[in-house]
Amino acid sequence: MTNDNVEQIVLVTGGGRGIGKACAQAFAKSGVKVAICDLSLEAVEETASELGSNVKGYAADVTDREAVDALFKRIENDLGPVNVLVNNAGINRDALVMRMKDADWESVIRVNLNSAFYCCRAAVRGMMKQRWGRIVNMSSIIGLRGQAGQTNYAASKAGLIGFSKSLAQEFASRNITVNVVCPGYIKTSMTDELSEEQRSAIVDRVPLGRVGAPEEVADLVRFLASPNASYITGAVIPIDGGLAM
Ligand code: NDP
Repeated sequence: MTNDNVEQIVLVTGGGRGIGKACAQAFAKSGVKVAICDLSLEAVEETASELGSNVKGYAADVTDREAVDALFKRIENDLGPVNVLVNNAGINRDALVMRMKDADWESVIRVNLNSAFYCCRAAVRGMMKQRWGRIVNMSSIIGLRGQAGQTNYAASKAGLIGFSKSLAQEFASRNITVNVVCPGYIKTSMTDELSEEQRSAIVDRVPLGRVGAPEEVADLVRFLASPNASYITGAVIPIDGGLAM
């Protein structure tokens, strides 16, 4: 049995800015209820009010499993049980491996990978009850190809791919799909840190010859949560202007 007419309740982690904000905006425009979470309540509430009355902001550190469980309870009370989960929160702490501090390794794994485990575990119970759920995990082409200076980031993003394929197999019979999006170079504060030289070196290697916009990633995420994507699970989809070809 499928249940594609279910009312969507969306959670986008790291929805205060960048790709997460664009995802929240895309869902909100389609008229569904959206929760966004971020570390700072002030920032996330500002984004929520900018995106309109369909969007509600929550402060939660997704590396804290108790905070994650509490977040899902609060969203269920306020909006209903989350049935579309976008695990988007992410950080990078780049360094060559010989210079990488334990804290840089551990924080990247915690934010980019452990958080997805905590959020998925908290979400699937409600999705199983509804016999409908959509999970989209935000990986990166770095998780597919690796990158010198980003061993921690690459390990976390590659880990998300294995995690998602396994989860997709665990929950396919419950009509819960789990897919992975792998952006290339997208213009956000994460990539604003790059120098102009680094930026043009990357763009030179992108077949489509430009950086991507957060809204382009958001359209893909929104599609993966739509009824049109009901036969897609365990997929790993680059959105990178052809960079990872
Ligand atoms: P940004 O740095 O612009 O935004 C990251 C978001 O994650 C922020 O809202 C941040 O909140 C939030 N966040 C960080 N740590 C936590 C935490 N512990 N708990 C809750 N929220 C947290 O990043 P992007 O929009 O560029 O990236 C979004 C995702 O896309 C990431 O997973 C990234 O790895 C991935 N990606 C991005 C690419 C790019 O080119 N931009 C390329 C490939 C993948 P706060 O503002 O409070 O810090």
